[in-house]
Amino acid sequence: MTVRDILGEAHLQRPTVSFELFPPRTPEAEASLWPAVEQLATASPDFVSVTYGASGSTRTASRAVVRRLITGTKLVPVAHLTCVEASRAEVTDVIDEFLDEGVRDFLALRGDPPSGVTDWQPQPDGIRYASQLVSHILDVAAGRGIPADQVSVGVAAFPAAHATPDGRQQALDVLAAKQEAGAAFALTQVFFDPEQYLALVDDARDAGITIPIVPGVIPLTTPRRAYRLAELTGVALPPGLVSRLEGADDGTAQYRAGVAAARDLAQEILEGGAPGLHVYTFNKHAAALDLLASLGLHGES
Ligand code: FAD
Repeated sequence: MTVRDILGEAHLQRPTVSFELFPPRTPEAEASLWPAVEQLATASPDFVSVTYGASGSTRTASRAVVRRLITGTKLVPVAHLTCVEASRAEVTDVIDEFLDEGVRDFLALRGDPPSGVTDWQPQPDGIRYASQLVSHILDVAAGRGIPADQVSVGVAAFPAAHATPDGRQQALDVLAAKQEAGAAFALTQVFFDPEQYLALVDDARDAGITIPIVPGVIPLTTPRRAYRLAELTGVALPPGLVSRLEGADDGTAQYRAGVAAARDLAQEILEGGAPGLHVYTFNKHAAALDLLASLGLHGES
């Protein structure tokens, strides 16, 4: 079953649950990742996505995590794939490698250009946009004789950018192009205002975009993590959350405030019809599982 099938069926019965992991960059991080994955698996996630090339991670490291998820667990991995800083042949090699491993679910992204580059251009034969990467993944799979219904490619969507007057139409056009290219679902960047997600979905439906749009949520349990996330994504932190985290007496109180804020957001978007929750875990299990428990989506609250 691909993620397209899972989202097609599961959200009619219950919200899907999924997690994002990133490849560990140190032996210590590697050692703590797998116990965390074991814990996350207790929530029976519908799929687990693994980032690629983000914040300096490498293709080899991403592949290693995806391979171990396939061979050592029952989890369904979604391999992120980017096209910045790679020739078409290099991207094709990576797709082939993932297909060889048995990966059938991808998240097609452009990736972030190197910092400081304002006028990024792809390599002469490179891939410029995520929508083109969607087509390319599907073409490579088809070229290997893999039936179209056995591969599913997701894409990114951006509720906060959609909420800006200048960004709205562009965000819709880009998402429509991704669907047109064959994308089967979208996962969103983090956001903190439920209305941003709900407006994106409403506008997308009005524009004929029918793919499931799964919201990305993140329990921010320390001010440091919150500031880092804002820096990485460019999504502004809500002042209320910052003051709750800053004003908490100790680490435990910060943790509770962060999980509660994520729960409030998640509750509102689930009530608004979100098909599931994609939880950004930072490779840690506790806050993600406590968030799900507080929503009745895993174990006891
Ligand atoms: P695109 O859709 O290609 O958009 C890039 C830019 O081009 C946008 O400004 C868009 O408006 C514009 N554009 C797109 N199509 C057209 C067109 N036809 N004509 C004109 N302009 C166009 N980054 C990583 O490096 N690794 C990861 O693993 C990773 N995972 C992510 C997961 C999620 C859920 C999200 C939301 C983001 C992730 N990112 C990751 C970050 C992502 O790569 C960046 O946000 C990137 O800047 C945009 O990616 P995109 O796939 O939306 O690109």
